[in-house]
Formats: sequence, structure tokens, C-alpha cells
Amino acid sequence: MPAETLEQLVSLCKRRGFIFLGSEIYGGLQGTYDYGPLGVELKNNLKRLWWRHNVYERDDMEGIETAILMNKHVWKYSGHEETFVDPLVDCKTCKGRFREDKLADGICPKNPKKRPGECEGQLTEPRSFNLMFKTQVGPVPDPESYAYLRPETAQGMFVNFKNVLDSTNRKLPFGIAQIGKSFRNEITPRNFLFRVRELEQMEMEYFVKPGMDEELHEEWIQDHLNWWVNEVGLDREKLALHEHPKEKLSHYSKRTVDILYKFPTLGFDELEGFANRTDFDLGSHSRDQEKLNLTARVAKNEHSTERLTYFDHENNKHIVPFVIEPAAGVDRGCLAALSEAYNEETLENGDVRTVLKLKPALSPIKVAILPLKKNADEIVNCAKSIKKTLQAKGNMRAVYDDTAGIGKLYRRQDEIGTPFCVTVDFDTIGRSDDTSLQNTVTVRDRDTMQQVRIPIAELLNYVTERI
Ligand code: ATP
Repeated sequence: MPAETLEQLVSLCKRRGFIFLGSEIYGGLQGTYDYGPLGVELKNNLKRLWWRHNVYERDDMEGIETAILMNKHVWKYSGHEETFVDPLVDCKTCKGRFREDKLADGICPKNPKKRPGECEGQLTEPRSFNLMFKTQVGPVPDPESYAYLRPETAQGMFVNFKNVLDSTNRKLPFGIAQIGKSFRNEITPRNFLFRVRELEQMEMEYFVKPGMDEELHEEWIQDHLNWWVNEVGLDREKLALHEHPKEKLSHYSKRTVDILYKFPTLGFDELEGFANRTDFDLGSHSRDQEKLNLTARVAKNEHSTERLTYFDHENNKHIVPFVIEPAAGVDRGCLAALSEAYNEETLENGDVRTVLKLKPALSPIKVAILPLKKNADEIVNCAKSIKKTLQAKGNMRAVYDDTAGIGKLYRRQDEIGTPFCVTVDFDTIGRSDDTSLQNTVTVRDRDTMQQVRIPIAELLNYVTERI
């Protein structure tokens, strides 16, 4: 049985050390989560897969890592100071605060069975609430020395467009990719990792010739849809596309399509967004905008020192590229991967096992080496040496565990998604009648629970091929 509620995931994540509430010992800080020993591995694996697919396996992509704090003018000309807002309403009775466009997801604090406004309480008229966190820069309080924690990684790529272009000599189309933290002062952070205030994003800005934008936009949507299915392991049936209606598009967008995933409890909701940002951002961060032939309406920029243009050799003129932006959340990606992998299975003997059927590439631990007897020195030494070899030569996370009986150890590894358990026993060390089994181990598959006996010398290959 797959996970039916987010609570099942929250409980597993806490119990096994994937994810904890941020600042938990002080009662937590709403909208923040800490990734524990297994969570950090899962998250790094997801980011690695994304980076490999989008940067290494392509010939038209550069990676970058830009500062979280940026000059305040970035957010003025990007339009975020004015428009990165959500409609906020207050309940006059319970004093609860809600997003007007997400009332259907809200819960009345006084009557949790009701939605805000469906109870006795009366809601105020909506007012705009800016989601950017503001902070002071430098030691002297000065109303002009402020900065924002970035609410998206995208702007770091736009303001570096020229730097990357000049240092790499790229030709259109090409892209810049970045993974990093963003911050949004969400009105109602909730639903575990789905809506947090400190989030991580995997974003890219793909610069194209105007006129090529619509076709390439479509290509990216299909490419990433396949990536979520083939590499992250999400069920295609649980993914859907959502076309943003024209009247709800962000100020920079000509067209936006989201990939939705069917999360437990929430149902279909956004996992990744694909916006055609046109020439808005490069245009709005440029000087001399009137010379640029922009299609987007931008505010006059009095601060930029650069024209963010590309010299088109074919037509012998400077142009402002259009931008296609695939933007995914790392946290929502982890939540989707965990939701998809979670399974409760009833075994033949009636026992229930919880198993995380993660794609092996995402699994925090690839192999667990388990000694059948923990007080037999030869077995323990052999198991520890196998662990060392896998770790060193296979460059994979392997663990040695002898803290319980073999059945319990298998269950523990199933629950955290370890694809292979390797058992070292008396046969392995040549202490049984059947000497043909010397230097062999048992490998148990997480999903089928089938066991095979293979020589230790073949173990590294066996595991590597399968992860
Ligand atoms: P939503 O409509 O859910 O508020 P959004 O459209 O504002 O999301 P984008 O600005 O497109 O989101 O951000 C790109 C991606 O970053 C989203 O698809 C999502 O995966 C992730 N993301 C955005 N806001 C959050 C958040 N508060 N918590 C977790 N992930 C987020």
C-alpha cells in the first residue's frame, strides 16, 4: 500500500533520521526543516541526478553558484519589490492569517474541521503581502542599507549573463543552471516539506533566440517530465501538466506550465514550473533599454552598468535573448520521491513491512553489510573489510551494522530504502562443511527480498551495475 497521508511520511522521516522539524527543542520554527543523516544523503543524491542530467549530459549548459544576498536594485528591477506578493486576509474572530487564493488548503485554528471563512469568523479584504525577507547589511543601522534574502535563484543567473557569456564564448541557445537556497516568507507554511520558508531550488535559465522560445519551452517540459519518471522514479500517472491561465501569469511570463505531482493528503500540486520569461529579465537589468528593441514592458533602469545582450553574428546585431526557465523545488522533489517510494507490504506470515522503494541512485545507503554473528571475529572482520572496499572502490555509501538480529536489520534497511543487504556468515569464512561457499556472501534485494549467493570478488560489480 502506498502512503495515503503525509503523516505517514513525517513519522518515518523523524523515526529514521530523514527530516526533523527545524529548531525542534525550542518548539520549532514554522516553515523550516532540518535534513538528518539520511535526509541529507537523499537530498544530495537528488541534486546530483539533476546536475548530471542538466549540466554534464548536455553540451549547452554551464553551472553557477551565486550569492544569496544581492544588491537591492536587483529586486527592484526584477519586479519582485512590487509584485512578489500574495493576497493576505485576516480572520476578525480567531486572528488567523491566510492566503486568499489558497483558502481551500487553509484550516480554521478554532475549528480545524472548517476552512477559513466557513466558520463564524469574518475575513478582512485581501491586502498584498510581500514574501521577501528583508535584512540589514553592515553594522550601522541605515534605512538605505538593506538587502533581501533571495526568493528565487534565477536573478543570480540573469545578473551574471554577461560574465558567463564572456568567459565561455557560448552561442545561443545555451543555459545557466544553479542549485541553491531561496527564502519566502510564506503566509501559511504547511504540509511538511511542500511549503516551507527556507527552500532549495534547482533552476536554469535557458537563453534562446526570440522566435525559438515556444518550441524550446515545450522541449524542456517534456525533457523534465521524462526525468522525473525515469530518473527519480515518479509514476507517470501521478504527474500532470497545468497550463497557467493568461490572466494569472507572473509579470515576466508569456506562458507558464507546471508539472504537478499527486502528493499524499494534498493531491495534485506543483512540483516544477516552466516559464517563458521572454526578454523581461535581461531587458529590465540592462542600461540603455530604449536601444534594445525589447518586447517586454520594463521599468526604466537608472542603475545598471551593462547591456545584457548577445551579438548575433548571422544578422550582425545585438539582441536580447528570450529565456525559458525550468524551476523545481529540491524539497518538493524529495517529498515526491519519498511519497512515491513509501510502501507498506503484508508478508506471507502476516507481518507488515514498510519499505522505501527508492531508485537506488537516490537511496541514502546503497549497501548494508551485516554479519550473521557479531561475536565471531572472523565474520566481523570480513564484513568490515567488504564495507571498506565498497566504500573506497565503489565510491558509494555503505554501512556495517551488527546492532540487532538479521531479521530486524533487514527491516531497518528496507525502511530506509537500502537496495542491497549483504550477509557474511560461516560459509563465507570457510567454517562450514560446504567449502565451495568460502569467500561468497548472500546479497538480498530490497524489493523482491530474493537472495543470491555471489563471490566477494564480484560484489562490487554486482552492486555498481544495479545502482
Ligand atoms: P506555489 O504556487 O506553490 O507558491 P510558485 O509557483 O510560487 O509555487 P515558483 O516560483 O515557480 O513556485 O518556484 C519554483 C519551484 O520552487 C516550485 O515549483 C516549487 O517546487 C518550489 N517552491 C516554491 N515555493 C516553495 C515553498 N514555499 N516551499 C517549497 N518549495 C517551494
